[in-house]
Amino acid sequence: MEGAVTAFRREKDMKIAFIGLGNMGGGMAANLVKAGHDVRAFDLSQPALEAAAEAGCTPFSSIEEAVADAEAVVSMLPNGQIVKGVYTDAVIGKAPKGAVFLDCSTIDVATAREVISAANEAGYDMVDAPVSGGIAAANGGTLTFMVGGTEAAFERAKPVLEAMGKAVIHAGEAGAGQTAKICNNMLLAIHMIGTAEAMMMAEKLGLDPQKFYEISSQSSGYNWSLNAYTPLPGVGVESPADNDYKGGFATGLMLKDLRLAMEAADSANAAVPMGSRAAALYEDFAGAGNEALDFSAIIKTY
Ligand code: NAD
Repeated sequence: MEGAVTAFRREKDMKIAFIGLGNMGGGMAANLVKAGHDVRAFDLSQPALEAAAEAGCTPFSSIEEAVADAEAVVSMLPNGQIVKGVYTDAVIGKAPKGAVFLDCSTIDVATAREVISAANEAGYDMVDAPVSGGIAAANGGTLTFMVGGTEAAFERAKPVLEAMGKAVIHAGEAGAGQTAKICNNMLLAIHMIGTAEAMMMAEKLGLDPQKFYEISSQSSGYNWSLNAYTPLPGVGVESPADNDYKGGFATGLMLKDLRLAMEAADSANAAVPMGSRAAALYEDFAGAGNEALDFSAIIKTY
């Protein structure tokens, strides 16, 4: 048993199954290969699987086959229902006993806890490990992972996550990673909307937006949306605004995270008057056909 634990803690040459090789998972799996791991890949999409094979992963035609021999299983999937289905039907009981599971998808807190609990009951360690950072960070290996799970599960997951990111933070028990992620993104939506409102109001009052940026970014209006992601083209720092709001963090994904945040707030009876207003504004903005634009494009509605 001692030997098995040591083997699982090796940082190189682990057998890692990777499920979900889309925009994010593709680059993450490629970084595990670069770190020297033996990556066994599965995705429902044939082109995604072929791209993973080109990046050095071994493609499999089912999840069961991909996980059969794995020491770790990483997933990067669209939503909680899919994550639950994948783990319940094809990972738990199919991966070798003692393997560690890492779900990096952004999903609801309740499902994350439910799946981790099912994995634990079957004898597996598992963490929820959602990410901050988009496709460029996934490709570049510079994601930030916020991790929920026991100390022991975190210690086992950490070397795998370190091969894909620049920061790996243990947030707390199961579900704490998802909690951190949705609270962070709710705050992001709120300060982006606040920044957009203030900038456009300044302009309507006759103040040059660049002057507003220079002043507020060094005053108490300082915040990430203004200082590091200025939502107007040609103002402040370079951002998706300077690229017609292409690239960056899509409005549709922000809306997904805000819906998860509202669901979680309800379940915890947390008051979120600003968060719910931000969610409503992003519902309207996405509903008007802007899902694919960067989330900072909401400034166009002012
Ligand atoms: P994506 O749609 O590009 O990729 C998801 C992949 O999962 C697809 O290739 C799809 O074919 C595959 N898939 C779906 N169901 C499957 C199943 N049952 N079995 C195997 N594969 C299956 O999505 P993405 O942008 O890579 O996002 C993945 C996750 O990362 C989401 O939870 C998202 O919220 C989160 N996230 C995305 C970003 C981003 O900028 N794209 C940033 C942070 C977090």
